[in-house]
Amino acid sequence: MFKVKEIFSSIQGEGFYTGRPAVFLRFAGCNLWNGKLKDKQNAICNFCDTDFVGTDGQNGGTYSLNQIIEKVEQVWNQKYKAIQKFIVLTGGEPMLQTNSSLVQSLKQKGFFVALETNGTIDININFDWICVSPKNLNLWKVKKGDELKIIYPQSKFNLNYLKKLNFKYFFLQPLDDNKKKQVNIMKTIDYCRSHKPWFPSFQIHKTLNVN
Ligand code: SF4
Repeated sequence: MFKVKEIFSSIQGEGFYTGRPAVFLRFAGCNLWNGKLKDKQNAICNFCDTDFVGTDGQNGGTYSLNQIIEKVEQVWNQKYKAIQKFIVLTGGEPMLQTNSSLVQSLKQKGFFVALETNGTIDININFDWICVSPKNLNLWKVKKGDELKIIYPQSKFNLNYLKKLNFKYFFLQPLDDNKKKQVNIMKTIDYCRSHKPWFPSFQIHKTLNVN
């Protein structure tokens, strides 16, 4: 059974597929933070802006494989229907629960299946697109994929080293820190201006308040 926080349609707001209509399947749970505010400061990953705890979100719940496929199809068809199907498996950490059967079944229904992972769990599943956004150097295992996304600024990553890894696209995403949000956006743009292949990724779904 899959524990799902929420399933919803929106546009992809960040990274390579920014602007593309998508269904988001957000799994409950993460291996880098338990999701409790009182523990956030001491968590391995402590700048998370996502609620991935429990199964109480839109279309959240505990699903069998057949049920989850049916629900994803339903959510897609309610809004988009006629265009190329696109699903983003996210979290929390989706690799804690995702398996080949789920990905294969989604593909059989015509979905292009993208993964957004923190890269701490090895991947032996044939995704259509893999975006890795590492949060901890020591626990980071998945060092190849389609898209590497680094929250910026962050001192723990050497961007000159990272750009040599086997990814097609390299994104820097401004740290969404309330007090320094604008500063982080400007720092990200400045860095990308003079450091190819890094390219800025903004969370436009937040700016546009799209859901
Ligand atoms: S790894 Fe991702 S989901 Fe987990 S706590 Fe960090 S930002 Fe949140």
